[in-house]
Amino acid sequence: MKVGILGAGQLGQMLALAGRRLGIDCRLLSPDPQAPAGQYAELIVAAYDNQAALAHFAEGLDVVTYEFESIPAEAVEFFDGKVPVRPSSRALRTAQDRVEEKQLFERIGIPTARYVAIETTSDVRAAADKIGFPALLKTRRQGYDGKGQTRIDSRFDLERGWVSLGAGPSILEEIVRFDRELSVLAVRAQTGEIEFYPMVENFHSEGMLRFSFAPAPRIDANTQDKAQGFTRMLMEDLDYTGVLAVEMFEKSGELIANEIAPRVHNSGHWTIEGADTSQFENHLRAITGMELGSTDLRGVSGMVNVIGREPDVARLREISGVHVHMYGKAAAPRRKLGHITVTADDGQGMRAAIAQVRSVLAR
Ligand code: AMP
Repeated sequence: MKVGILGAGQLGQMLALAGRRLGIDCRLLSPDPQAPAGQYAELIVAAYDNQAALAHFAEGLDVVTYEFESIPAEAVEFFDGKVPVRPSSRALRTAQDRVEEKQLFERIGIPTARYVAIETTSDVRAAADKIGFPALLKTRRQGYDGKGQTRIDSRFDLERGWVSLGAGPSILEEIVRFDRELSVLAVRAQTGEIEFYPMVENFHSEGMLRFSFAPAPRIDANTQDKAQGFTRMLMEDLDYTGVLAVEMFEKSGELIANEIAPRVHNSGHWTIEGADTSQFENHLRAITGMELGSTDLRGVSGMVNVIGREPDVARLREISGVHVHMYGKAAAPRRKLGHITVTADDGQGMRAAIAQVRSVLAR
């Protein structure tokens, strides 16, 4: 089996490593010669619109997948009729466009934040009347890790914010005063079988995931069922194959969907040590037609992202239950350089270890 991966960041790296354990060879494509996954698998360095390079990349592949959302849709469509693409290009197109994503939630009855699409200056004025303040302005496309979005507190802010984001297609959303952020990770096989990981609680700041607890504490069966039901509807609607992450807000016991990620996800990194089968292995199993692996837990896990600065790995290793994953990227502000997972027997032990990890990273 040979799997092609569009993109070669840390998600591609962890997919390639999981592939080795399954006897699957991965080939990656990225415009960046320093892309971290190139340390672990064959890397073709080319722009996503280089048709000759895409043809070369496709040679001998059984299936193509992608590891980040900003792949131009045309690059994915290039493979139509040549090599199957999983998840489908429709899932990718939907996740790339915040308005289409919200329309999908609405069409299948999943609650989401109130929003208005903005195209022109007159839409900007109308949007302010509909949503009110404070609100969040986001570009429709290409936003991630808090990039391409800005908080809006007044009409003046809105006009200025829209211009600062490029005055292009955007979306104005109400700010949800959530109690906490949760995500659901699920994997769907080509047979339609779905396996769920337990819900994860996520902590963001400045639009970036900082740390996660798995399973999320204090989730009642009703909330887990509801979240799984939403995720199942999304996967079935998109005729989805592979791992899907759904990010949600919890507010007064209700779930409000924020966005989907049609790929392996940062809030699932803990599954490498914390579940019988990691999200990376299950994604590869699903897209290559293998049986899915068990998503049962191995104790309780927590994950902390290493952002911006090299950590003191020797100190981290002194903490019980710690697993260090560094991606081999050069340090830069706001860049995800690695992640640390801790596994423990119970939530109390996990939270204590996560607090220690965070204090080492803060030094
Ligand atoms: P996103 O790029 O949509 O994933 O947003 C990144 C982070 O910004 C989310 O994880 C939330 O912490 C926050 N955020 C995004 N949208 C909203 C919203 N409508 N209300 C409150 N917080 C939000």
